[in-house]
Amino acid sequence: MHWRTKLLDPTPHARRDYASLATPIYRGSTVLFNEQSAVTDDWRQAENGYSYGLYGTPTTLELASRIADIEGARETFIVPGGQAAIALIYLSYCQSGSHALVPFSAYGPNKAIAEGLMRGFGVEVEEYDPMIGAGISGLIRENTKLIWCESPGSVTMEIQDIPAIVSAAQSMDVAVALDNTYSAGVMFDAFSYGVDVSMQALTKYVGGHSDLLLGAVSARDESAYSKLGPVYQQLGLAVSPDDCGLALRGIQTLGVRLDALETSTLQIANWLAKHPLIEKVLHPALPTCPGHEIWKRDFSGSSSVFSFVFKNYISVAQAETFINSLEVFRIGMSWGGVHSLAVIYPDLLRPNKDFGGAIVRLNIGLEQTDDLISDLSQALQKTTPK
Ligand SMILES: *Cc1c(COP(=O)(O)O)cnc(C)c1O
Repeated sequence: MHWRTKLLDPTPHARRDYASLATPIYRGSTVLFNEQSAVTDDWRQAENGYSYGLYGTPTTLELASRIADIEGARETFIVPGGQAAIALIYLSYCQSGSHALVPFSAYGPNKAIAEGLMRGFGVEVEEYDPMIGAGISGLIRENTKLIWCESPGSVTMEIQDIPAIVSAAQSMDVAVALDNTYSAGVMFDAFSYGVDVSMQALTKYVGGHSDLLLGAVSARDESAYSKLGPVYQQLGLAVSPDDCGLALRGIQTLGVRLDALETSTLQIANWLAKHPLIEKVLHPALPTCPGHEIWKRDFSGSSSVFSFVFKNYISVAQAETFINSLEVFRIGMSWGGVHSLAVIYPDLLRPNKDFGGAIVRLNIGLEQTDDLISDLSQALQKTTPK
């Protein structure tokens, strides 16, 4: 062969029997087949073999399979982010003319897709009170195809009675999807409570270091798996094998990170609860959190994100002074990483509740707890009305 042809030889030259603790990063779009009759284009790669890099390389499928194993799912799809996971679930379960239910405490962009894309497709998404429990049966219609749950809710942290919602949904043959990001897929056992599809933003705890975006959609059974698969294929939700490699690394330390984050976060939440400027701390393990008793019943722990509400005489401007005075905490929106973050939600819309722009969400990181408390303390001092 000419050296130009040698340059392009795809046959492996080195031995491939390298046993390592690390998962190899397989990149690739084209999959090679042994013969023409074997050529397919099939999203069911876990069962039927590899057909195209779009549905994942061995690195992606390794991550998917580990998540499925940890959560007890039939199978998991890895998608580009938590929001893509939400979109995949809506588009798999709802068609024109469908009705869906979403708690008003859901992640903002979930409600945005409901009001935007889904409404445009002729899907009606109705918001419900996250504390509704068995009362959800009163909202289920003939054309209801999907009930979303998210527990705890975003920012306002309501814990939902998922067993009660699942039981109402099952009796009327409606699928239940859960945003299980808070629990990292491990502190709330979605499938043992009968949820059909569970998703999480791997961006948060599995990634764990604020350096990647990925999502996971896990199907309880064959029925959910075969509903999601074709839509996953049609949407072309490809992910980077490098990001999957980072997530596989993140998974290995998830246990110790969650333990350390829980301990530090509880200490800080309890300290804040005693502070005179603070009306209420919304942390699942504190009795002031709506649904605290359900959390005790259904969850095996708590994680690093929670909110607090200032006393009503604290103005938005004073709350902003607090945020801007923090030195260790950074100002930012995401959570689940190793750094502490704080942010105000000035325009938070919740029926019958006005937080007056003074609700703050914190993400606790792995910094020394005492340093975080000192930081909050000095910033609260600057917030005190003169
Ligand atoms: C962050 C988040 C998402 C979206 O995840 P991305 O990876 O950022 O798209 C979905 N649900 C919840 C509850 C989240 O906090």
